[in-house]
Amino acid sequence: MSTPDCCPRCRSLDPDVLSVSPVANCWIVYKCGVCHYSWRSTEPAQVTTAAMYPEAFRINPRDISDFAVMPPIPDLRLS
Ligand SMILES: [Zn+2]
Repeated sequence: MSTPDCCPRCRSLDPDVLSVSPVANCWIVYKCGVCHYSWRSTEPAQVTTAAMYPEAFRINPRDISDFAVMPPIPDLRLS
């Protein structure tokens, strides 16, 4: 099992290891510290490999600070 060099979704380098299988060498869960995407090493290549990750779901790390807060936080009520 090779360690991915970047996040499939935002292509930030050096994703973290989030968890490993209790039985040795079965799977590893990785997490991106930039966009918080996580994936298991045994998932299909379109989920685990940057080159095959669907274009429509990619994230540019520069855009993250402009994402809307979901759900939106309502204004304080003045009562
Ligand atoms: Zn990422």
